[in-house]
Amino acid sequence: MTIADNIRQILQDIRQAETQFDRAQNSVRLIAVSKTQPVEKLKEAIQAGQKDFGENYLQEALGKISELRRYPLEWHFIGAIQANKTREIAENFNWVHSVSRFQIAERLHRQRPGDLPPLNICLQVNISEEESKSGVNLAELLALALAIQPLGRLRLRGLMAIPAPSKNFDEQRTVYEKLAQAQQLLISKGLSLDTLSMGMTDDKMAAIAAGSTMVRVGTGIFGSRQA
Ligand SMILES: *Cc1c(COP(=O)(O)O)cnc(C)c1O
Repeated sequence: MTIADNIRQILQDIRQAETQFDRAQNSVRLIAVSKTQPVEKLKEAIQAGQKDFGENYLQEALGKISELRRYPLEWHFIGAIQANKTREIAENFNWVHSVSRFQIAERLHRQRPGDLPPLNICLQVNISEEESKSGVNLAELLALALAIQPLGRLRLRGLMAIPAPSKNFDEQRTVYEKLAQAQQLLISKGLSLDTLSMGMTDDKMAAIAAGSTMVRVGTGIFGSRQA
């Protein structure tokens, strides 16, 4: 299977899941997670029509963004964010899915260049409540969202999560439904959110069943990653 074949197959699976789970057609966007993959592989994905790419490591991402500048792409930062890296993230990405602290949001807001539209962000939630996992805890989510909402150079779009791995569809779906409920709670408090970034190669169907609007697929498109 080529990268183009993989993308075609995954898009078909996504469209089929939208139908099966009563989701609007084309309400789920495919983000190709290209961390550790060489730029040639991203070009294959671009030739197949892929426009959204997710990257975790800033230096690696900046090289690819620069090399692929002539294509109309959207870049999604999905990795851990160090405070000293926020400027380059604010200058080079369209989306940041992994905001979980006010200090990081405030820096992205201040550093987003004035000639670019507001930076789209999602709050990463520690949905499985794992000690070691990054993300804001559910108990602190509302306060964080309300604090970030007024930052005018950001556009708070929704929530993201990486649950503890499970091979069971119903378990996967239950965890993602928790994130969808958290989103509904924020909406009921007046926040206008339209994005749920949830689902990866092995649990994207359960995520779509639970309301995902962006699935982040890496190995399913590009094959296994280099260490
Ligand atoms: C690596 C990564 C993915 C993609 O995972 P796959 O299992 O390869 O699809 C998705 N989201 C985040 C945040 C990642 O770091």
